[in-house]
Amino acid sequence: MPPTATLEDIKAYQDKVEKDKITPHNLPPCPQCSVDSSFFKIHAYRERRFLIIVEMFIKAVYCSLVRFKCPGCGKTFTLYPDFAIPHKHYTRPTIVGFSAGYVESDPTSYQQAVMADTSTPGYPQSDATLAPSTIHRWITTLGRFTHTCRTALILLLEQNPVSSICRNLARLIIARRKYKTNERKKQLINCRHLVIIEAFFQATFKTSIFTKLATRCAFS
Ligand SMILES: [Zn+2]
Repeated sequence: MPPTATLEDIKAYQDKVEKDKITPHNLPPCPQCSVDSSFFKIHAYRERRFLIIVEMFIKAVYCSLVRFKCPGCGKTFTLYPDFAIPHKHYTRPTIVGFSAGYVESDPTSYQQAVMADTSTPGYPQSDATLAPSTIHRWITTLGRFTHTCRTALILLLEQNPVSSICRNLARLIIARRKYKTNERKKQLINCRHLVIIEAFFQATFKTSIFTKLATRCAFS
């Protein structure tokens, strides 16, 4: 089965929103006036469309996200649930899972990376399927979370100073035919770092880097 958040994950979050259980504490302090996020107030609810994969079909599910406002300067911030990545409709397990499938396997092409088992997830009412170019864009996005990855790495090394993670990261290479520019090479390596760091983080702290850390690092 392709990686995806489930309908239950999204319903559980919607339930928390409706019961007023979403707090701003994991957000970073206001970048404009340094007010701590625990002082932020609820500003608005915004309905967001997410795409999940159910038995190889791409389905839209709606969920409310909470926007908070800084009382110091009025700047607003969206809090994302751990199944979401800002500005993306597909859920985080899908984005990380398919991107990992591409960066972790030297021979895999984008055409092959959209396949889960033997077929490609598609829309129920049309012939459209998950596009290879979508995975290319997801890798670009994941390649930007360098601050989150660095912070996760520091926490991992504090927890286990003799961890093999630095060796694992230093050793990895990206197949030469997967990039034409140095910039793309860097994005691919950063994305592969994220996949490895996430696996170590899950194993060590029993939680994802996206549960709190990415929010705290403002998805940078
Ligand atoms: Zn502020």
